[in-house]
Amino acid sequence: MESRYQSNRQLKRAACYSTVGGRQSSPSVIVIGGGFSGIAAARALHDASFQVVLLESRDRIGGRVYTDYSFGFPVDLGASWLHGVCKENPLAPVIGRLGLPLYRTSGDNSVLYDHDLESYALFDTNGNQVPQELVTKVGEVFENILKETDKVRQEQSDDISISRAVSIVFERRSDLRQEGLAYKVLQWYLCRMEGWFAADADTISLNGWDQEVLLPGGHGLMVRGYRPVINTLAKGLDIRLGHRVTKVVRRYNGVQVITEDGTTFVADAAVISVPLGVLKAKIIEFEPRLPEWKEEAIEGLGIGIENKIVLHFDKIFWPNVEFLGVVASTTYGCSYFLNLHKATGHPVLVYMPAGQLAQDIEKMSDEAAANFAFMQLKKILPDACEPIQYLVSHWGADVNSLGSYSYDRVGKSHDLYERLRIPVDNLFFAGEATSMAYPGSVHGAFSTGLMAAEDCRMRVLERYGQLDLFNPVMGEETASVSVPLLISRM
Ligand SMILES: Cc1cc2nc3c(=O)[nH]c(=O)nc-3n(C[C@H](O)[C@H](O)[C@H](O)COP(=O)(O)OP(=O)(O)OC[C@H]3O[C@@H](n4cnc5c(N)ncnc54)[C@H](O)[C@@H]3O)c2cc1C
Repeated sequence: MESRYQSNRQLKRAACYSTVGGRQSSPSVIVIGGGFSGIAAARALHDASFQVVLLESRDRIGGRVYTDYSFGFPVDLGASWLHGVCKENPLAPVIGRLGLPLYRTSGDNSVLYDHDLESYALFDTNGNQVPQELVTKVGEVFENILKETDKVRQEQSDDISISRAVSIVFERRSDLRQEGLAYKVLQWYLCRMEGWFAADADTISLNGWDQEVLLPGGHGLMVRGYRPVINTLAKGLDIRLGHRVTKVVRRYNGVQVITEDGTTFVADAAVISVPLGVLKAKIIEFEPRLPEWKEEAIEGLGIGIENKIVLHFDKIFWPNVEFLGVVASTTYGCSYFLNLHKATGHPVLVYMPAGQLAQDIEKMSDEAAANFAFMQLKKILPDACEPIQYLVSHWGADVNSLGSYSYDRVGKSHDLYERLRIPVDNLFFAGEATSMAYPGSVHGAFSTGLMAAEDCRMRVLERYGQLDLFNPVMGEETASVSVPLLISRM
């Protein structure tokens, strides 16, 4: 291995440090990954006077937060909601200070309804609109079914899937079974739930699905996109784009991080904030190997797929509601469109397939995917006119993400998120899949970045006996002024 460094490959020091006769310069950290978690960690450590280099494989920062401007206005192809529109949300201070508007799509704090029931227009595949009373009635039935699955959970010694639990409820409570159109509407609610987890109901854990913490304040769309937030957090950081990390070597006195082109960076510690999908695919080799409990966490957590197919039209021809849904007799056949016109004023519908459907659509060309989404729209609105432009995301196939966000798989403990977060010596882990409280979210990713930074700061400074010399991570910048959020549709 040593000869590799003595070869003519570049050897870069992310920062210099001396362990002889005391420290000559400030401690150093390499952050791997420039999504919300990595940027949060880098920002916090930079503000705590660490020397920080951030290595990002893509030619942009943001990761699964990606605002596209090619239509002439912002459209988020990754995250677009702030889940928990409240001052307790760790992102509220920065969003508030930037004066970025939020459009609240639901005041509900549940994972099931990031849209209010009355803001839906559902149609069957023949284009007949489902009466609103039926939408509401089946929504209530669905809530009751989920309450019943909780009883099933208490009785089962082994974990089972959500879909199995729902079947058990139907066996016991014939009054909750639905028929005909109501059955299709119920499938649609299940399909929406699958969208929240980006996974099919037969893979989602009954024990784990509701273990995340929901912040109060409901769900708000970032009207101008998430880009300004990540750009603000990244200001002044040393970020190296186009640096794909392939190896991390951990030694008692520091880490070496090696990129695809053989360049080596060295530092006291590293924060690993790459997506769970990238860890699962073993794109980064760890030397020595990560401990078994960490590998088990990587293997055990689920990573789902949700994509966005954004259709831009030259005029509005759809009803003035926030969500258009297609109901069908299977969750796979159900689908939905977010009406961005409500929140942004632009004539845009966003089709959002998840789970198996998203995987199947990812195999298509972009043109075929856009056409597929348009065909779904034609089913419910036969007079729909063709889109003038489209955008298609590929979060599952993209080697920089290999999935959209994590979820609890059947038979696997929710604690795996925490196990993924726990540091291994001088390696610190961050990212949405390391958040027990808020997995699969931007604010979850952000807060794990801050946690990793604080753990790293403590560990590195303790080690060098200089704990009192550097600022705590939660410095002035994050803890100070709080500006109220700008929310429309209260
Ligand atoms: C379609 C979609 C919709 C979503 N909707 C919402 C929403 O509305 N609200 C919400 O809160 N959350 C949402 N999420 C989830 C949210 O986007 C993520 O939880 C969050 O952005 C993850 O941040 P992260 O820092 O953990 O990971 P990432 O943002 O993925 O950052 C990891 C970074 O590591 C980089 N990287 C990968 N491999 C390497 C390597 N080998 N070397 C160096 N760098 C590497 C990646 O390029 C990336 O920049 C959505 C996600 C998707 C995909």
